[in-house]
This record gives sequence, structure tokens and C-alpha cells, in this order.
Amino acid sequence: MNNSPQLKPGYKPVIGLEIHVQLATQSKMFSPAPNNPQVKTPNTDIDEIVTGQPGTLPVVNEQAVRLGVMAGLALNCQIPEYSKFDRKHYFYPDLPKGYQISQYDEPIAENGFLDIVVNGVVKRIRIRRAHLEEDAGKNIHPEGLPYSLVDFNRAGAPLLEIVTEPDIASAEEARLFLHELRNIVRYVGASSADMEKGTMRCEPNISVKMPEQADLPNYKVEVKNINSFKFAEAAINYEIARQAELLEKGQTPKQVTMGWNEKQNVTVEQRSKEEANDYRYFPEPDLPILHFDKQFLEILKNRLPELPTAKRTRFKAEYQLPEADINNLVNWKELTFFFEQAVS
Ligand code: ADP
Ligand code: MG
Repeated sequence: MNNSPQLKPGYKPVIGLEIHVQLATQSKMFSPAPNNPQVKTPNTDIDEIVTGQPGTLPVVNEQAVRLGVMAGLALNCQIPEYSKFDRKHYFYPDLPKGYQISQYDEPIAENGFLDIVVNGVVKRIRIRRAHLEEDAGKNIHPEGLPYSLVDFNRAGAPLLEIVTEPDIASAEEARLFLHELRNIVRYVGASSADMEKGTMRCEPNISVKMPEQADLPNYKVEVKNINSFKFAEAAINYEIARQAELLEKGQTPKQVTMGWNEKQNVTVEQRSKEEANDYRYFPEPDLPILHFDKQFLEILKNRLPELPTAKRTRFKAEYQLPEADINNLVNWKELTFFFEQAVS
């Protein structure tokens, strides 16, 4: 299906993605409370650290660091020797401490890439960075009731946020990228990366270049927390059409944060875009700096499984299967094991 909007000649979409995957650890990012994305009863998987009680201290989850670094390596990133955590402040009822522990200027992974195949041609999408952070809880607004509720089960869950360069040129390319990213994080066991279950969420940033425009547009529109491939494509296509129409009328789209209304199939403005200094980032004083020595990285590199691209190439050479069959197999790691056992 291709619903990409027909643009006047010379108008070119520019898209960068921010993707959160929930890491498949036993416990939370900074506490021993369980990390279970399937939990149903509210406020069971919590503890003093998750709920930000005074006097508690965070401890870094080693498994989360390993999984994050593995994903970074699989995305062809450089892992810096040192990495640190920072506090990102904002006030919201699902964020008990009043800040989120994230990483600002020294993420665990930088300067990677992921290759997608667009109409038979390989296209490289650069990955700017990947960093570790904790998730927030969830506010619930029961219909018809004069109050809201908050569920902290998701609070403190370990996330890896992956940020691309604005190298993506269509909703179709974004979908291909998200699919391959999902494959890769699943292959390394970093996350179940299931958009429908909320363990992978995506925020597209979208702008449109005008004819003859060399630089990136000086605005971008971010669409928050999209939880399906279908909605990601629909939201991107909707924004491209909306922005192109404004540009053709000589207007510049406002730089805003939007949400996707899945009932009406439109993006809706949520707030004006915040700047980094609105968050008053500063280094997290309660956590040590991470030091990745060569030996640690070697061990993790050796643990990387055969990744989807390598597997496709090998399956093509070894089994001479049609491309579509290879893709279907490789999209499901367990199926490739089953297939190879059956063949042998
Ligand atoms: P911010 O500091 O506002 O979050 P960044 O420069 O860090 O912005 O980029 C955030 C995301 O937006 C990245 O994925 C990046 O690729 C993407 N991006 C940057 N500029 C543009 C643009 N003009 N159009 C679309 N996406 C963009
Ligand atoms: Mg951002």
C-alpha cells in the first residue's frame, strides 16, 4: 500500500525518528522492582525507588547496560569509553521524582547506521545516538469521573532511546527502518520490540524541503508516542501533506509537538516544542560514570548473533531462496533456526 501524498515537483519530505525500546531485563533501570511489560494490576511492580521516596538511591541495572550496548554495537555505533547519566526535569504526575534519569551529552552509543532496501536499492540511515533512560508511569483519566489515576508499573522501566539523523525521505522508508530496527533489537535479545504491546514506540520528526532548498528546513514537527507501524506511516503521510500545503501557500509550519488521533486520522497539536534548556539537565550525582573498557566491549561483540543483513546474504547464497521468502524467514529469528534444522 502506498498512500504517500502527491507533492508538487521539488518538495521533499525530511524525516528523523526517535524510537524507544523497553529493554528485556528482569528488573527496572535503577531498582530491583520487576520489569514486566505484561503486568495488568496497577501499582504492583513498584518500590521506594520507582516511586521516588525521599532518601532512596538509584543503582544502575547492569543487564540494561549490557543489552543497550549490544543493541548499539548491532546498530554499528561507536561505544565511547565513558558514558554518564543526567537528570531531565519536568513536572508531571506520572513522574514521581520530578525528573527522569536519562543521558544528555554522553550517551552509551553514537554514530551508527542501519541499511534498508528501498525498491531494491540499499539506503543507509545514519543513527546519531542511543541512550539509556527510565520510563515514566501512566496517567489514567477514567471516563466520566472527576479525577485521574496514576499507575507506576511502567515507571522506572529501562528504555533505550535510538535517534536517527534526518535521512528518511518517506513514510515507506520510515516503516522499513522501523521493521529492520525491530529485527535487530530482537536478534540481540535487547527487547521484545512489540509496537502493539508498547515495548517499542516511535516519534517521527517531520519537515518538508521546498524546491531548490539546500539546507534542512528550519522547523520540524514531532509526533509523540506512536504505537503501531500503521499509525507511524499514516501520521507521517498526514504531516507531509499538511506541511506541503502550508509551504505552497507561502507559510512556514509551526514547530510543535503533535499527537496522532487514531479515530480521526489527523495529527493534533499538543504543545509548543520545548528546548533542551527547559529541562534543566544536569549530571545525575547519585550514579557513577560508566566506563567501558576494551575487554568488556570485546566480550559483548563476541556475543553478537548473526544479524539480519548477514543472515539474508547467507540464506541467499546457501539456499537460493526467493527474496520474499528470505525476508519472511529472517523477520522471525526462531523461524530461521527451525528452517535450518529442518534443512540439515
Ligand atoms: P531536538 O533537540 O529538538 O530534539 P534534534 O536535532 O536532537 O532536535 O533532533 C531530533 C530528531 O529530529 C532527530 O531524529 C533528527 O534526525 C530529527 N530532525 C532534525 N532536524 C529535522 C528536520 N528539519 N526535519 C525532520 N527531522 C529532523
Ligand atoms: Mg526530541
